[in-house]
Amino acid sequence: MRPPMLTARALVKRFGTAPALDGVDFHAAPGESVAVTGPSGSGKSTLLHCLAGIMRPDDGEVRLFDERIDSLSERRRSHLRRTRFAFLFQFGQLLPELPAEENVALPLMLDGRSRRDSLEPARAELRRLGLEGKEQRRPGELSGGEAQRVALARALVVRPAVVFADEPTGALDRATGDQVMGVLLDTVAELDAALVVVTHDPRIAARCTRTIEIRDGRLSGAPRTGDGFDGFAGTAPAGPAPDSAGRFGHEPVAEVWR
Ligand code: ADP
Ligand code: MG
Repeated sequence: MRPPMLTARALVKRFGTAPALDGVDFHAAPGESVAVTGPSGSGKSTLLHCLAGIMRPDDGEVRLFDERIDSLSERRRSHLRRTRFAFLFQFGQLLPELPAEENVALPLMLDGRSRRDSLEPARAELRRLGLEGKEQRRPGELSGGEAQRVALARALVVRPAVVFADEPTGALDRATGDQVMGVLLDTVAELDAALVVVTHDPRIAARCTRTIEIRDGRLSGAPRTGDGFDGFAGTAPAGPAPDSAGRFGHEPVAEVWR
């Protein structure tokens, strides 16, 4: 097995008293896709946000390669999110007033590239995802599947080391969801990136290289506090879990782009 690129040890995150994460270990190697499953409210999104540097854990640590990232300043974590990580949420969180190509170019422009140098790779990424001819459309003029592919293009245009996806196909019909997921998995393999994807869909979990299950803020079957990489190897893909159909629209995308 290849050495992990993203690792976390004994993550704890509390909102008020009850911990949302209660000692979770995690690892993902380049080329690996890890499905995160579990019931609604079990801590899946919190895990993703801690791994991605959106949220700081109260305890434990997160490393990208050898660098500890949870303790970095907000400014440096923000830079990391823009340059090494990519995010895909249930709804693409595209900016409605911008054409597709500008939505995709945005992370490059935020990182200081000129508009021209950003639009070129953005258009190439849109072409690669089968959206040639739709570059000038605004999100409201695209179908749900097309909009999600634009969001995918925006996530991938930075050539990220890790892609974080939180129920990326939750709002799509099955065929469109399968297509988006196929492109996501192919690209992650091509980039030799790692994918961490929260999903309730056992068919999606089955397409990932590994599945972990979170229950009450802990890895299913894991002891209370992690003590290394042994005890939490991936489980077989879990069955469908009832989850958060009602929790739309409050993903912390503003924080991601900050
Ligand atoms: P999941 O993604 O598995 O549905 P979450 O990680 O969103 O679960 O939430 C885990 C627990 O933490 C839940 O009890 C949820 O209500 C709580 N929680 C999550 N985010 C916040 C927050 N920003 N403030 C307070 N409580 C939160
Ligand atoms: Mg969630």
